[in-house]
Amino acid sequence: MSPSSPEFFATGARIAVLTAQPLDRLLDYRAPEGGCLIGAFVEVPLGPRKVIGVVWGAGGGDFDAAKLRSVIRVLDLVPMQAEMRDFLQRAGTYTMTPLSMMLRLATRVPGLGDPPSMRKVLQRSSHDPDRMTDARARVLDVMQEYEGASFTPKELADLAGVTPSVVKGLVKQGAIHEVEAPRDQPFATLDPQRAGKTLSADQARAAEALEAGVASGAYGTTLLKGVTGSGKTEVYLEAVAACLRKGRQALVLLPEIALTAEFLKRVEARFGALPAEWHSGVTMTERRRVWRIVGQGGAQLVIGARSALFLPYRDLGLIIIDEEHDTSYKQDEGVLYNARDLAVWRASLCAAQVVLASATPSLETWVNAQNGKYRRLDLTMRFGSAVLPKMQAVDMRAEDLRPSTWISPTLKQAMELRIERGEQSLLFLNRRGFAPVTICRACGAQVVCDHCDARMVEHRFMKRLMCHQCGATKPIPDECPSCKVEGKMAPVGPGIERLAEEATELFPQARIAVLSSDLFGSARALKARVEDIAKGEADIVLGTQLVAKGHNFPLLTLVGVIDADLGLQGSDLRAAERTFQLMRQVSGRAGRAERQGEALLQSFQPEHPVIRAILSGDEESFWKAEAAQREAAGVPPYGRMAGIILSGSDLAQVFDLGSALARNDGPMRAIGAQVFGPAPAPIARVRGRHRVRLLIKAGKGGALQHAIAQWIAPARLSGDLRLNVDIDPQNFF
Ligand code: ADP
Ligand code: ZN
Repeated sequence: MSPSSPEFFATGARIAVLTAQPLDRLLDYRAPEGGCLIGAFVEVPLGPRKVIGVVWGAGGGDFDAAKLRSVIRVLDLVPMQAEMRDFLQRAGTYTMTPLSMMLRLATRVPGLGDPPSMRKVLQRSSHDPDRMTDARARVLDVMQEYEGASFTPKELADLAGVTPSVVKGLVKQGAIHEVEAPRDQPFATLDPQRAGKTLSADQARAAEALEAGVASGAYGTTLLKGVTGSGKTEVYLEAVAACLRKGRQALVLLPEIALTAEFLKRVEARFGALPAEWHSGVTMTERRRVWRIVGQGGAQLVIGARSALFLPYRDLGLIIIDEEHDTSYKQDEGVLYNARDLAVWRASLCAAQVVLASATPSLETWVNAQNGKYRRLDLTMRFGSAVLPKMQAVDMRAEDLRPSTWISPTLKQAMELRIERGEQSLLFLNRRGFAPVTICRACGAQVVCDHCDARMVEHRFMKRLMCHQCGATKPIPDECPSCKVEGKMAPVGPGIERLAEEATELFPQARIAVLSSDLFGSARALKARVEDIAKGEADIVLGTQLVAKGHNFPLLTLVGVIDADLGLQGSDLRAAERTFQLMRQVSGRAGRAERQGEALLQSFQPEHPVIRAILSGDEESFWKAEAAQREAAGVPPYGRMAGIILSGSDLAQVFDLGSALARNDGPMRAIGAQVFGPAPAPIARVRGRHRVRLLIKAGKGGALQHAIAQWIAPARLSGDLRLNVDIDPQNFF
């Protein structure tokens, strides 16, 4: 870049700097000695502090030129590229998030400004300590789990849940070495020339289409639709290979960290080395390394959770969103964004390809493919001899069930057969805990959370009641909190733990495994359990939503859905779609290897259109019907929605603000939008804060965000009142 380029600011020039401080505007400074580039990361004085920011452009504020302060220094980081600045700006405008918060999303790494020096890290030696204690064993276990990784002493102590003195003791004993290592070592090179698996004709056709897209070097989005086990992953790995061959970076987003371990193995087998990882389970030191090296163009492939979309890629050529319909792509705290939608946006800004992979795409994506906005590729067959499971409803009205039991005789019989054959059964119930409700048999009162308007769920394994909203727990009361009668509190309804009890009674000899997210201390513990089950170390697996996501159990041939009606009720716009996706996915767990699978759906309304669509396997007609309904109602994807969530500790104040907004809805009416509410949000109180919601329904087109901004601008947020805008809400709270 020549010093006279419009992207270079000479010493003393007036520049605008974006910081991650909650200021809502750019700040003017003078360029430092030697000048700086646009996009450069800089340290600037702000009052008495020094903060990090990005040179955003020429300064233009009306701040007194004589008082302008100088940039302190330019950090040793690759400047933020124009494409990334553009992306943050657009994403901020779309989600109605201040740019400073967008920058924070994009720079969530410690020690950004630190020099690339050497540092002390710890590594396992071949010695064992003289004396092994529990705490010591935990530290060494952690080191073994994260094979080959280096840690700072504090990271290691935190991960193992021990005090730093335990780590020090191990160093003294020679069981751990302290070594000097350069920070931020580069990642091993992935080799895209290695041969992949031999693809079936179906798969090869899809892979070629994706490779051609990547080779074109232009933007494009493709829906890769295929049943679980049809080889979507094998196919999109070919697109990754094509991207790496072109020398561009690729990103694979997964919905669940528990799935990364299995995926990393596949990447290693395919490309001969491990990719970079970015998710909540990655240590801070490693995050810094990934962030910096991705920015230098050094990590060819990143596997991550939604926030990996905000890494500073040098040259991003491909984004894969696996299980694109998964709700975890929507962040519902802080910046409310949908990583799937923003990925498409980011790709269009950097001429990249997007692949949305799913067996059961979201209706939005299905419609986009239908109307030609996205390309669609279908994998119709399961790989090898695996075939789709036979699906049947169990009409619960005709089943003879004892009270407080949930496994029907029909399902029980099918499970017996599996046990005889040495195969596995999976019972699916999307409810954690023992019982969803604890009720007093004397007065009928239910136990609710002290901080939220949510029922407390009994968790028998920890012998407490827990609020699934805020996580608060309390002992199971012996005396009714309402009528004070003793010994009448009783659990009502099934949770996964209670189902486990029933299964144990029915099959006392069977090995039963429960997979529920709250029963595992860490993603690694869960992964280990999943691997054991895959090897056959269980006869009956009971699982919540967790099991729907991509785990592979070759011996599993029966899936029993305990309550297929759960989720059909509810006022949520996406209730039918979600039920459909979940049931199809869970059923897809059966018969993944050579054996024919069977899925039994227990339902009190087997004639319900959603249940019928699931059973018939006629997916296209389900989507067509669902799309027609949404179009008639003018709701997404045929219309737009936004939520306004107001919260505060004083209910009357929160409601008053909501009513004031609803009364003065001129800017919304001006674009033909309707405002509903204020209404208590479905969970009306969370952590002691009352929540009230307004829902906006608008047509397509029309400047929705602009109108909302005008509308809420006069709102006075006194005291602890908060207002959050949720564009394209996924959950209606
Ligand atoms: P999906 O992502 O659609 O669920 P996967 O790509 O995980 O499917 O494939 C399911 C299983 O079948 C995996 O174990 C995968 O390795 C295997 N598989 C798929 N296609 C092939 C192929 N062409 N050759 C060998 N194994 C394959
Ligand atoms: Zn609570």
